[in-house]
Amino acid sequence: MDKTGLVWFRNDLRIEDQKSLFKASQKYNSIIGVFCFDSNWFKETEYGFKKTEKFRAQFLIESVQELKNNLSKLNIPLFVYLEHPVKAIPKLCELHNCVEIFYQKEWTQEESDTELHLINKLPNVTFTSHYDQFLFEPNQLPVGMESLPEVFTEFRKIVQKKCKVNPCTSIDAFYTQTPIINPTKIPSLIDLGLDSFEVHSHSAFPFQGGENQAQKRMQSYFWESNKLSVYKKTRNGLLGTNYSSKFSSWLANGCISAKAIYHEIKKYEKEVTKNDSTYWLIFELIWRDYFKYISLKHQNNIFKLGGIKSRDYEWKNNAKYIKAWMEGNTGKYFVDANMRELHETGWMSNRGRQNVASFFAKDWKLDWRIGAAYFESMLIDYDVHSNYGNWMYVSGVGNDPRDRKFNVELQAERYDPKNKFQQTWLQKTLF
Ligand SMILES: Cc1cc2nc3c(=O)[nH]c(=O)nc-3n(C[C@H](O)[C@H](O)[C@H](O)COP(=O)(O)OP(=O)(O)OC[C@H]3O[C@@H](n4cnc5c(N)ncnc54)[C@H](O)[C@@H]3O)c2cc1C
Repeated sequence: MDKTGLVWFRNDLRIEDQKSLFKASQKYNSIIGVFCFDSNWFKETEYGFKKTEKFRAQFLIESVQELKNNLSKLNIPLFVYLEHPVKAIPKLCELHNCVEIFYQKEWTQEESDTELHLINKLPNVTFTSHYDQFLFEPNQLPVGMESLPEVFTEFRKIVQKKCKVNPCTSIDAFYTQTPIINPTKIPSLIDLGLDSFEVHSHSAFPFQGGENQAQKRMQSYFWESNKLSVYKKTRNGLLGTNYSSKFSSWLANGCISAKAIYHEIKKYEKEVTKNDSTYWLIFELIWRDYFKYISLKHQNNIFKLGGIKSRDYEWKNNAKYIKAWMEGNTGKYFVDANMRELHETGWMSNRGRQNVASFFAKDWKLDWRIGAAYFESMLIDYDVHSNYGNWMYVSGVGNDPRDRKFNVELQAERYDPKNKFQQTWLQKTLF
C-alpha cells in the first residue's frame, strides 16, 4: 500500500489557501482527510448550558459537508467521525498506512492536550503542523513574542510597517488515487444531541457554512452590492445582513482565510475604489490577528478571572442576574433586545456585543468568564481568541488603555434612535 499523507482538519475547513493540504500535496501522491466531531463539544458546561449550541453546530455541519464535496473533486476522501481524534485518528492511520499528519497549529489548552495525546499514541507517525489562521504570519514578526506590544495601536503599527501578507496557495485537481472506500457519515444535529431549528425570519445572519458560501458572500458584499465601499459608515448597524461583512463565522471555521479576504480587498481597491472603508475592513482583520497574538503570548491566562492583567476585582456570581441577562430580561431594553437576538439566531452585532458584555461585567459586576462561556455556546462565529480577548478587553482585565464602560441607554439612543432594533426583538408594547 502507498504511504499516505493525512490532513487533519480542525478550524481550517477549506481547500483554497490551506497550508496542510498544500504541503501534503507536495509530498504525497496519496492523501486522505479527517475531521472529528468531538462529543465533548456538545456536553453541558458547569454553567448549565451546552458548550456548543445548535446554531454553531449547524454551521459546522454545513462547513464540513462543503469541505467533503470540494475535496472529493480533488479525489481526496474526507473521513468524518463523531469520536475524539485521539480515538479515531490512530485507527484511520493504521487502516490507510498514514505516515505523516499535516494540521493547523492550535495553542489553547484543550486543542494542545489533544495534539499531545495523539503524538504520544502514534510514535511512528510524523506530525507536521503550522500556523494557518493569521493575516500576518508569526514568522514575519520583527519582534519576539515576549516583546510583542500589548496595546492594539502599537501592534497594528508594527505589523503594518514591518510585515507583508503572504500570497494564497492553491492546489489543482490532480489526484489519480485508486478510489478509497469511505463509509463515514457527517452527523446531524440530532446525532449531536441538539434540536433542529428554522432560521429566524429577522436573522442578520441567515447564511450557511462552507467554503463556497464564504466565497459567495465575498462576491456579493464586495462586487455585487459594493457594500465594502461604505463599510466604515455602516459597520455599527444592528439590523439586516449588510451593515458589516459577516465574514466572522466563516473565518472562525476557516472556510476562508484572512489572507484571501485581504487580497480580494486589494483587488477591489485597484479595480473599483480605494477609500477609508476598504482600509477599515483590513483594520478589523488586524484586530482579529491582535487577539490571536495576545492569546499566543499569554496562553491560558486569557481564561483566568484576573485576565492577562491579573486584576483583582470583586466579581459576583448571582444566578438570578445571570439568568436574567441570558434570557434578555434585565429591564434594559437595548441589552435585552441584543440578548434575545442572540438566543433566537446565534448572532449579535459588534455594537451589541460590546454593550451586553460591558453591562454584564461592569454594571452588574458578574464573573465575565460566565458571559464569555455563554457567548461560546451561542455564537455562530465563536472563536476562542476573539471571544475571550474581547471579553477581557471590555471587562477591564485585558488591554483596553481607556478601560471604558458603555452607557447602554446613550448607546441605544445613538445607534437605535427610532427603537427599530429594540422593537424587532422585544414586544412592541414596551415602547
Ligand atoms: C464581547 C465580544 C465577544 C466577541 N466574540 C467574538 C467571537 O467569538 N468571534 C469573532 O469572530 N468575533 C468576536 N467578537 C468581535 C466582533 O464582534 C465580531 O468579529 C464581528 O461582530 C463579526 O461581524 P462581521 O464579520 O460582520 O465583522 P466586520 O465588522 O465585517 O469585520 C470584519 C472581520 O474583522 C474581524 N473583527 C472585527 N471586529 C473584531 C474584534 N473586535 N475582534 C476581533 N476581530 C474582529 C472579524 O474577523 C470580522 O469578521 C467579539 C466582540 C465582543 C465585544
